[in-house]
Amino acid sequence: MPSQMNSSKILPTERLSISKWYSAKRCAISLRFDDNLDSHVNLVIPQLNKYDIKATFMINPGRNNFIISYKRHQEFWEKQVPVMGHRLGNHTWNHKGAKNLEEAEYEIGEVSELLWNLYPNENKLNVFASGGGETWGGRRWHKASFQYKQLAEKFFLIDLYSGEHKRIELNSNFAQKDWNFMIDDSIENGTHQAFVFHKIGDKSSIDFLKEFITGYNNCFSSNKFLDFLADLESKKDKIWIAPLIDILKYEREYKSSELQFISNSDSELEYVLNVNTDLSLYDHPLSLVYSIVNTEKHIKVFQNETELEISKIFENCRVINVQPKSSSIFIKFT
Ligand SMILES: [Zn+2]
Repeated sequence: MPSQMNSSKILPTERLSISKWYSAKRCAISLRFDDNLDSHVNLVIPQLNKYDIKATFMINPGRNNFIISYKRHQEFWEKQVPVMGHRLGNHTWNHKGAKNLEEAEYEIGEVSELLWNLYPNENKLNVFASGGGETWGGRRWHKASFQYKQLAEKFFLIDLYSGEHKRIELNSNFAQKDWNFMIDDSIENGTHQAFVFHKIGDKSSIDFLKEFITGYNNCFSSNKFLDFLADLESKKDKIWIAPLIDILKYEREYKSSELQFISNSDSELEYVLNVNTDLSLYDHPLSLVYSIVNTEKHIKVFQNETELEISKIFENCRVINVQPKSSSIFIKFT
């Protein structure tokens, strides 16, 4: 870490760098909850709010039966959840796949239209997950024809089942040491660990029956969930916990950007930041890390003409969040 170096020896070319994760955290962790379940409303969201953790909820607005009903908490999902800072993701309208392209356009497009309305200050980019086990024109999503995949593009969706997005679904078969191992591994290796959940709570007789038939356990007990949150909280100074869309934006921006040293003088350092993502979709601020040298009492940082806020993370280390766009970065000594 920059704080451990003798910062006066750091060359100007190396003093500023782009942080792999936002706010110079060591790794990223996302929490995703599928299927707008009652336990998300009654237990998950109040607990997340206590810890100020923002998560992603994959919803099916058309799914309304005795067990799963979006309508039962429609007001909560649409009015309260966006204001709390959680993100809703596109999990299709009915969670039933589609027989043909016309049906698919409805299943995918209607949810996107709804979410664009619910988040008027966000751009159109969002995450998409096909319902598990559903078919699209007779094939599972990962094998569906390209016209179906094109629909995801049409609605500015990042396909979580494209094969590029690893994730772990936590259920009651996992023990505390298992998730701590995954969290620590993510911190150690600077990766994004995506956790997925379905029901939080004890298994009902229907859940037991479902597991008996399908072999699939999608319940994680509420006690384990509370332990999981407490474990995250204890390590949160090292972890960027954020909604999936924020992490995926940042990851893409980071991979498409580079910082180039231009010049240094007694009064300033100049760098050029090149970013190859489209700012109208990839708009998450990028974090730059600056190592202060011993002689610098105060600095000001500018992105083109705009002065930026500076936050101190260690004695000799500052973090500056910039817009993810190609621009000049000036560090001015005052
Ligand atoms: Zn689902």
